[in-house]
Amino acid sequence: MTRPPHISAILWKSILGEFKAIVGADGLFSDDEDVSLYRDAYSPVWGESDERLPSAAVAPRSTEQVQAIVRIAAKHRIPLYPISTGRNLGYGGSAPNLTGSVIVDLKRMNRIIAVDDKRNFAIVEPGVSYFDLYAYIQERKLNVWVDVPDPGWGSVLGNAMEHGVGHTWGAYRDHFASHCGLEVVLPNGEVMRTGMGAMPGAQTFGDFRYGFGPSVDGLFAQAGFGIVTQMGIHLMPRPERFLNKRVLAYKREDLIPLVEVANRLEDSGLIGMPLYESPMLLAQSQDKALREIALSNDVWNGNAINRYASNKSMPVWQLGLSFYGPRDVVEASWRYAQAQFAAAIPGARFEDVEDLSFPLTPEAEERALHKVLIGVPNLNIFALGARSATNPEPADGHLLFSPMVARSGEEVLKAQRLFTEGLREMKLDFPMAYGPFTAPFTWMPRIFALTCGLPVSRSNKAMNQRSRETMRRLIELGAQHGYGEYRTPPLFQDQVMNTYSFNNNQLRRFCETLKDAVDPDGIIAPGRGGFWPRSMRPGV
Ligand code: ADP
Repeated sequence: MTRPPHISAILWKSILGEFKAIVGADGLFSDDEDVSLYRDAYSPVWGESDERLPSAAVAPRSTEQVQAIVRIAAKHRIPLYPISTGRNLGYGGSAPNLTGSVIVDLKRMNRIIAVDDKRNFAIVEPGVSYFDLYAYIQERKLNVWVDVPDPGWGSVLGNAMEHGVGHTWGAYRDHFASHCGLEVVLPNGEVMRTGMGAMPGAQTFGDFRYGFGPSVDGLFAQAGFGIVTQMGIHLMPRPERFLNKRVLAYKREDLIPLVEVANRLEDSGLIGMPLYESPMLLAQSQDKALREIALSNDVWNGNAINRYASNKSMPVWQLGLSFYGPRDVVEASWRYAQAQFAAAIPGARFEDVEDLSFPLTPEAEERALHKVLIGVPNLNIFALGARSATNPEPADGHLLFSPMVARSGEEVLKAQRLFTEGLREMKLDFPMAYGPFTAPFTWMPRIFALTCGLPVSRSNKAMNQRSRETMRRLIELGAQHGYGEYRTPPLFQDQVMNTYSFNNNQLRRFCETLKDAVDPDGIIAPGRGGFWPRSMRPGV
């Protein structure tokens, strides 16, 4: 059994009693079996002394109960760790930064307070999942879409608080950027509302995020300055039609004009998320000759790849384009985009992928190819890591390394080589991690994530150690070239924060100053975001 730091067994028992008085017996989880459900299911330190373990979990039903929990924690100086649905797999799951923290599990605060399809926003509590919000909208036949991340079981609010991402239109798929107004329980137990929520009687909480004065909302995402109990979020009006097309490019260097044109189209509001892929990524596992090309030292000049592409008529790159909007407009946008790509990339070809008109019948929705592109939450992504012919021994989970790379083809080609050769120097054999066919993810508008997954295991400690070491070295290598991580599990948050080191780590030091002022005892998620209050600061 794990207890909060500096709390004796006797005191712990009485504190659990205090929590129980607030949330009831069914809202307190302190048996080992229950508490272990809050461990990080993808932990790269599973069962080792470094694993960050919770001591208990409490599941409040209201903001008032959250306040009461925070007050008890403040009285006893116990660290809390809020989660909404706790599904943050690959980035830490529901486990805290500090062992002994009490998880504040907000899944029971699951009211959908408003969905407005005239002004296009929703207001939700933390326990509302993407499935819940989607079902609510479908049942009432409302004319709005929710931008969903890959697995739809997570929380709309929790995902935004982790700078999570989706797949549709620019601002909507940056989930924090589309949030609008927060209600937060602060480390002293008081409630604050931001934006227009701060003005009693205002009806515009979900419309206008700034209100007046500094925008403090950013302090509650990837940071432990409070427990968010309500959030407004802008929603996308349901489009009339979705047109999905594909551009095929047959030379490695075609990535450069491909990205330039896609950037122009996206930043002009003509397309949603550009989806970059290389058909060669899969093909190399089926064709030894291509695999040899991929592993050769001179692969980076592109010649062998281009020859292979030409012989096999196989594109080196494919780019999925999503058009959303009125029936005729999407068609005109596609014609315009096609002309732009054709002019910029000699030899480019084009493919039709999907053409859907909304609302869809349930059958048509079931048949849709890539559901997250049309705001339909699902769990299909897990099939990728499941046992299959090409993946006969899947790992138990993965650790995600997600460096941010400038949105240009040159930069992607450069970063691919850097990370591939970096791994090779580390003598690591992760066949699918990096290589000349790694395509950038575009979840975040205006930036590329060159993400790779490192395997983790429940039983193979050597594999975990190797993945951890690789992760640390990749973070270091990326930072040496200005590629910063946008999100990382607690185990690596201190390291990542320290790579943002401009002016002697001024960013971290400013966060520490704020933490010392607002939460000196580290009551809320100490260590989250890679900074600690003075009382817990390493080396202080
Ligand atoms: P999801 O289930 O959508 O992936 P989580 O509930 O796991 O999201 O939340 C991701 C992270 O965001 C959590 O680990 C926590 O650090 C932070 N977080 C989640 N909910 C809140 C909240 N209500 N207030 C403050 N931080 C939160």
